[in-house]
Amino acid sequence: MTFLSAPPGTGIRFRRMDREGKPEIEARVENVIETNRSTTIGRGNVKVHTVEHILATFAGYGIDNAIVELDANEPPIADGSAREYCKMIEAAGIVSQPERRDVFTVTEPIELQMGETEMALFPDDVFKITCTSSDKQGRFTQFFSVELNPKTWERDIAHARTFCFYEEIEYLIKNGLIKGGSLENAVVVRDDAVLTTEPLRYPNEFVRHKILDIIGDLSLIGRPMTGHLIAVKPSHTANCELARLITAQMRKPLVVAQTFAPPPSPVRNVGATESATRDAFPDSATLDTMQVMKVLPHRYPFLMVDRVTKIDGNKITAMKNVSVNEPYFQGHFPNHPVMPGVLQLEAIAQVAGILMLKQIENIGRIAYFMAAESVKWRKPVRPGDTLIIDVELTKARGKIGKAKGVCLVNGEPVSEAEVTFMLVDA
Ligand code: ZN
Repeated sequence: MTFLSAPPGTGIRFRRMDREGKPEIEARVENVIETNRSTTIGRGNVKVHTVEHILATFAGYGIDNAIVELDANEPPIADGSAREYCKMIEAAGIVSQPERRDVFTVTEPIELQMGETEMALFPDDVFKITCTSSDKQGRFTQFFSVELNPKTWERDIAHARTFCFYEEIEYLIKNGLIKGGSLENAVVVRDDAVLTTEPLRYPNEFVRHKILDIIGDLSLIGRPMTGHLIAVKPSHTANCELARLITAQMRKPLVVAQTFAPPPSPVRNVGATESATRDAFPDSATLDTMQVMKVLPHRYPFLMVDRVTKIDGNKITAMKNVSVNEPYFQGHFPNHPVMPGVLQLEAIAQVAGILMLKQIENIGRIAYFMAAESVKWRKPVRPGDTLIIDVELTKARGKIGKAKGVCLVNGEPVSEAEVTFMLVDA
């Protein structure tokens, strides 16, 4: 494993050097694909397991941009703590970059309950974690509270090793699936005894490691943050779910402003937060391309919306400039460019999707087509045309949405359809 420096805006990325094309996976909660015992991120069939201790190390030191090169699907586990990774970073050094750090401040409490796990995150001007942990039988109940900064990270958290219970690995040991040296990368608890090749590094090493895992998992929001987290019996699954909820809150002011805020009056005395929100969305009823991409997951060559010009209740109007550079004109048809009718249907669905996806609980979801009815194509759409997409959301219940849409060019309908779609978690 090699850590490389990276320019501002990179975030933390894992690069698989052993795979063709050296694919990269961004350490973002959207890329989390498994949280059973450790956190796995992936894209397509490329995965990296157990990213949390590396991510905690970067977050602990306040490192925002770095590339982690790996020649395997998992970083070396070392001694089960972050000590070795800290040594690598201390040896390399840390430089400050010219860009301002974009720290997210939790604005409203976020609560999460999952089985035995309870988490509550409150606004605070520092990043603080208060945690209690214990096993199922209530053994080794421990408590620790820490304000995270590079100093407390290195001193109080980084050396805490991962631990497991003998019952969980008994089968593996008996069947020779773990080498004898496994005590070198985890503390094993057997009944009331702690099995380890070196003494405990902190009397409450277990809960400190739980905090280490939280720091790593929460860094998947992709930004440094402030807030006070109180966590009871945390798990990777709950940590990542909390990261999703934080991400939703991060996007919330923008979404609310898009939809509900009245247009700003010309003269007004506004506070800093309010003006920042207003600047991001100068007009409550329109979205530019960048804002559309915050709501829709579609990208080139499949984003069929350039701009939303009006949102009014369950009605929405958007536009798409059809240029001769659209990739599909190459084959549809050579020397006779016509926009494929199904892509107009897609445009209707995407615009309807904006209305559904702007609700907080739907952020990050993807819309699947379930049905298209009463589809009519009336006129060909050619390069140079501006497609106006008028959509009315006729039903939005749970995950199912139904919409009626018309595409117009120069005020005349060129296609229409009723589409039904379902929102699924990406
Ligand atoms: Zn861990």
